[in-house]
Amino acid sequence: MQHNKTLNVALVAHDALKPAMTDWAKRHQQWLKNCQIYTTGTTGEHIQAQTDLQVTRLLSGPLGGDQQIGAMIAERRLDLLIFFFDPLYAAPHDVDVKALIRIAAVAQIALATNERTAELLIQALSQTTQPND
Ligand code: PGA
Repeated sequence: MQHNKTLNVALVAHDALKPAMTDWAKRHQQWLKNCQIYTTGTTGEHIQAQTDLQVTRLLSGPLGGDQQIGAMIAERRLDLLIFFFDPLYAAPHDVDVKALIRIAAVAQIALATNERTAELLIQALSQTTQPND
């Protein structure tokens, strides 16, 4: 299956949610192979170690990676953000986390902040794919 257009997807997960993110990426590897994938630094490291996906790794989240992704969203260079943030932990870069969610809302891009919503998004987007020869 291939997408009608190549989707630009960003994947970000806080430490406690990295296993959930890598599991999600593994489950949807075939679909994600047709996407251009951007990640924050450590999230990307985990995904690269556990899947065959090609990803563009930005800086680690606390060191500016969230802001880099936010800038891409502001410039309308991303279609989809899967952001598993940890609701039980106060991140040192909490302002960046808020800014990222805010700019995603401003730009009206598809945003999933938990695994269940990420599943539903993929299901919905998979219906807009077309058979590959
Ligand atoms: P990381 O960043 O993937 O580099 O851990 C994620 C975040 O904390 O925003």
